[in-house]
Amino acid sequence: MPATQPSALVLRGHPALHAHADPVKDFLPLLALTQAMRQLMETHDGIGIAAPQVGESLRLFLVAKELFPPEVQNKLLSDVFVNAKIVRRSFKRIKDEEGCLSVPGVYGTVARPERITMESQTLSGKKFRIAASGLLARVLQHELDHLDGTLFIDKAVRETLHELLPDGTLQPWNP
Ligand SMILES: [Zn+2]
Repeated sequence: MPATQPSALVLRGHPALHAHADPVKDFLPLLALTQAMRQLMETHDGIGIAAPQVGESLRLFLVAKELFPPEVQNKLLSDVFVNAKIVRRSFKRIKDEEGCLSVPGVYGTVARPERITMESQTLSGKKFRIAASGLLARVLQHELDHLDGTLFIDKAVRETLHELLPDGTLQPWNP
């Protein structure tokens, strides 16, 4: 459990980003951790953030609820996902571009199941289930991958990976 509040994102290469995160057993310290994570997510314009991205190897992530349309927000009873797992995934996969706060400036195309059903717990340990499609399904899968030490660049179509330079130009990117 976190001894101190995280104050910064960690980047690719940090051990927490490449490890299998531990299940959450003690929910009490999570409030401070999720508040710090939410703040970092907002500061860095993220749509989701997972605990390993702040160096905490715990099965916990959150999504930026306010960035989704109202009908999706209504389904999102909790924006905090603790000990989440996918219980159903569509056979159909779709490709779309992704980026990640842990690999800043890099984007690439990732194929993922179009629809998933996820079971999770809230910040207070209450179990819930959500059926997601579109962007939410993609974000939930991206964040869950973080808990298994997988980054989107590990799954992206290699030749689509590119870096957005500060001057606005794009260049191919290789891990
Ligand atoms: Zn990410």
